[in-house]
Amino acid sequence: GSVASANAVAVIGLGRFGQSLALELMDNGTEVLGIDSREHVVQSLNGKLTHVVAADATDEQVLRQLSIPEFDRVVVAIGNDIQSSILVTSLLLRFSIAHIWAKAVSDPHGLILEQLGVPHVVYPEKDMGRRLAHIVRGSMQDFIEIDTDFAMVKTEVNPHYAGMRLGDSNIRRKHGVTVSAIKHQGGAWQAAAADTVLQAGDIILVTGPTRQAERFSRPSA
Ligand code: ADP
Repeated sequence: GSVASANAVAVIGLGRFGQSLALELMDNGTEVLGIDSREHVVQSLNGKLTHVVAADATDEQVLRQLSIPEFDRVVVAIGNDIQSSILVTSLLLRFSIAHIWAKAVSDPHGLILEQLGVPHVVYPEKDMGRRLAHIVRGSMQDFIEIDTDFAMVKTEVNPHYAGMRLGDSNIRRKHGVTVSAIKHQGGAWQAAAADTVLQAGDIILVTGPTRQAERFSRPSA
């Protein structure tokens, strides 16, 4: 059956990245149409995605037959075959799909996609490498750069703050960061409030300018 609907997402290219994306979307209850030119890849995903088709996505007729022009959200997860990535993406732009994401495997590839007018070009390997650099440098548990120079960091609370109310900690004034959520040992995540008492071993979610969030997460902070 057709899965083209406002709620469905089409994922074109089911390599490691596309598969992981498609399966995660399914996990969260989104309908997914997957397309890949490799028959065995499509077979292995049969039954795991709402609909999965073996086809060459650079063929405009193929995309029309699969109702791609009616999709609201399409991800081009073809990377290494740059020519295919560009051809598929330009077809999607011609269809005036509202939301297009395209994966780039290199800066020149990304530049071409951006010049074509793709609103969301993603660089998974480059981004993951950068993210890991922050995690390694700041000895933090997780790091997400929300925007240029604004980040969210998951880190263990400095024992210096043990027993202190968040409201009395001066963390925001001294370090320029905000503690947004907290998880006591063995507990669940909860929103941080002024009367939250920090304990040794707590894990906190901190937001703020990247440098400051990173500096704050370091053991000496
Ligand atoms: P990854 O690094 O995520 O594995 P790849 O770029 O290696 O990404 O994989 C892209 C996927 O896209 C592959 O499974 C490949 O078969 C598929 N693909 C490449 N070109 C086309 C195309 N023209 N039509 C459909 N699928 C394609």
